[in-house]
Amino acid sequence: MENLISGAIKFMQQDFKEHKELFESLKNKQNPHTLFIGCSDSRVIPSLITNTGPGELFVIRNIANIVPPYRIGEDFLSTTSAIEYALNSLHIKNIIVCGHSNCGGCNALYYSDEELSKIPNVKKWLTLLEPIKQDIKSISKNDTAMRSWLTEKLNLVNSLQNILTYPGVEEALNQGKIELHAWYYIIETGEIYEYNFKEKNFTLIQNRR
Ligand SMILES: [Zn+2]
Repeated sequence: MENLISGAIKFMQQDFKEHKELFESLKNKQNPHTLFIGCSDSRVIPSLITNTGPGELFVIRNIANIVPPYRIGEDFLSTTSAIEYALNSLHIKNIIVCGHSNCGGCNALYYSDEELSKIPNVKKWLTLLEPIKQDIKSISKNDTAMRSWLTEKLNLVNSLQNILTYPGVEEALNQGKIELHAWYYIIETGEIYEYNFKEKNFTLIQNRR
């Protein structure tokens, strides 16, 4: 905890002052251009891997960067309400769903019943990936590396499909008002791959210009 306290003091005394004008310009409202949906994993830092600063990314992080299908529910729907807000109140221009290598959330999908009984809400959350789990179990029986790789990638494709269920998203995409991307970040190499919708595979991100 001491590190965090000295970090906060350093922020107030040094980092904040260096970017004082930026923070002042943001004091009344945010106008982020991008909704970034990533994993809660401590190794995935959205602003670091996109080279962005305060006010640019509206970030949602949850276990395994899952986008649930849209619904209006009686329960407390954190991810769904944040996506709804980003789309309809902030009018963001880009959506990035970012997965990553060695995702503990994706791996928890294969925990034993006993392990999952200790984390009942995570167990429930991961039922969103149950169809993927069944498909992958039949493909990669004992190969856990292959299983992780497939789960992380198919989870991203599943999230892309689910985001299309949010009101107005498909229309906005067709009209070119928003862009939709799925990224896969490899922690130990720093490489970021992007899903190619036409070829249905992931390729290293390239400069567009
Ligand atoms: Zn993860």
